[in-house]
Amino acid sequence: MFMDVDHFKNLNDSLGHHTGDIFLHQLATQLTEIIRIEDTVSRMGGDEFTILLTQISSEADAASIASKILMLFKTPFNLGGHNIHLGASIGIALYPNDGDNPDTLIRNADTAMYHAKEQGRNNYQFFTTEMERRVRERVILEADLRKGLERDEFKLYYQPIYSLKTETIMGFEALIRWQHPDSGFMSPTKFIPIAEERGLIIPIGEWVLRRACQQLDQWSRQTDKPLYMSINISAHQFTKKEFIHTINDILNKSTFAPEQLIFEITETAMMDNLGYTIQTLKQLRAMGIQIAMDDFGTGYSSFTYLKQLPIDILKLDHIFMRDVMHDPDSAEIAASIIDLAKKLRLNVIAEGIETTEQLGFLKSHQCARGQGYLFSKPLPQDEAEALLM
Ligand code: C2E
Ligand code: MG
Ligand code: MG
Repeated sequence: MFMDVDHFKNLNDSLGHHTGDIFLHQLATQLTEIIRIEDTVSRMGGDEFTILLTQISSEADAASIASKILMLFKTPFNLGGHNIHLGASIGIALYPNDGDNPDTLIRNADTAMYHAKEQGRNNYQFFTTEMERRVRERVILEADLRKGLERDEFKLYYQPIYSLKTETIMGFEALIRWQHPDSGFMSPTKFIPIAEERGLIIPIGEWVLRRACQQLDQWSRQTDKPLYMSINISAHQFTKKEFIHTINDILNKSTFAPEQLIFEITETAMMDNLGYTIQTLKQLRAMGIQIAMDDFGTGYSSFTYLKQLPIDILKLDHIFMRDVMHDPDSAEIAASIIDLAKKLRLNVIAEGIETTEQLGFLKSHQCARGQGYLFSKPLPQDEAEALLM
């Protein structure tokens, strides 16, 4: 079994490494109490443990031990006066079907553990050959992403964001597009997560930033409107010190004001890395850049965080637009969020406006800005420019 503690980094970041150490110690003690004398628990490093079960006769035996381990996490850990809830993800590989040597078994258990993470964490998964196929697919995709950067295969599309009152363009959201040489168009929802996982989001994210700012610079010179550009930023970009340097470098070379830049970060990404996030967001805001929380309503939707996080804009996820016309509860929730945002002095941008009914609904609730197919799809540079002009 390969076990990894969920969000262990958060514990270290928020309560310090010393508390992290206390937790690892407690966990190790409890693990050794659960397993039988002939089994072995070892810490591979960080928050990763392997458990070697030598006397099992069926999958069910392994499953029952995995359940017992997860049960440990049902009660909070007492860490220096704090009661902390944590979880773990476990992958299981069985001899001899999933490998007949230690290296293969550990690797496949690790693969299964990643699958457990993807399944929403805090669960266990048995290794399957299907997982192996997906891992291989990812390795290939990673190599293709690298080549894609070198060969200039990425493009930015721009979706206009409108003032709902005057129905005029206020700015654009830059959205990346990739024409894969063999598979054709590939959605960012497919390749961005892999780029994040493999660290490639750093060079790709920098390319997006530079390209979008270059475009904003050009359009700002061509119009006298204070146009803004909304750029999606992955939380992984935040954790690199160079990020702020890159932004400074870009701003120095540009003629637009920092206030014309909006960085969109998804709600879930903000939460995953709260310590760094708050610190970096404060720095960006001090530079004048506006911060938008993307996809609000799809993750934790925590009001506490909404109050704590230094943000300027809330992007109402398109899931609300989908349901707003036929589900009164969704309509109430959407209306309440718009209202709440206003009271917290945040601007709201509604995403995914597809019908005039949805637009009417938003207008009647004084939502100021929005984007969606009703106005325009994301457009290639020349078409976006024509529309703007
Ligand atoms: P997002 O930032 O929430 O972007 C909005 C998505 O909604 C876009 O999908 C857009 O094409 C789509 N959309 C716009 N209007 C409508 C509408 O009326 N109806 C519906 N159903 N959808 C609409 P897209 O371009 O496929 O991007 C998906 C996600 O990929 C983005 O979600 C964002 O999280 C991520 N992404 C895109 N470009 C970048 C990038 O340059 N960097 C990073 N880190 N993430 C990116
Ligand atoms: Mg966005
Ligand atoms: Mg969004």
